[in-house]
Amino acid sequence: MDVTKEESGDHATQGSRIGIGHDTHRLAPGGPLRLGGTDIPFHLHAVGHSDADVLLHAVTDALLGAAALGDIGELFPDSDERNRGRDSGEMLQAAWQKIAAADFRIVNIDCIVFAQQPKLSPYKQTIRQRIAALLGVPADCVGLKAKTGESVGPVGREEAIMAECVALLEKVV
Ligand SMILES: [Zn+2]
Repeated sequence: MDVTKEESGDHATQGSRIGIGHDTHRLAPGGPLRLGGTDIPFHLHAVGHSDADVLLHAVTDALLGAAALGDIGELFPDSDERNRGRDSGEMLQAAWQKIAAADFRIVNIDCIVFAQQPKLSPYKQTIRQRIAALLGVPADCVGLKAKTGESVGPVGREEAIMAECVALLEKVV
């Protein structure tokens, strides 16, 4: 179907910015699994310089990307000892403060976690609320889905956990 300029809502979407974030961490023996600012009981944990919260890292990168303000590695380099074991929720809030200072507000974010295990359904609402609280938005601005690796590849073999996020920002005028 042809969409005219008027129908495509050019005016309504003026000032909107989309961003994408992707992250991968290795898994190693010993829980808990930190995901979305939440400690999930599991026999594996994600390995990383910070607290290795793959979901919050993807969210941080999606938001930074939408504002074209760099990426998490630029803001919090793993060569900096201050970032060792650092709470990713704190990093997300620091990144968001920088983005908000550039006059953006969040329309919504949508996330996918790729993990063979554990089943995330019991934790989804908690994680959504945690991310929403970190960003100061209602929980219905945060979408969260979980996919397994279908028992193949690094996710399916439980060698890695991955996350993706898209974020939509609006310039405050
Ligand atoms: Zn990461």
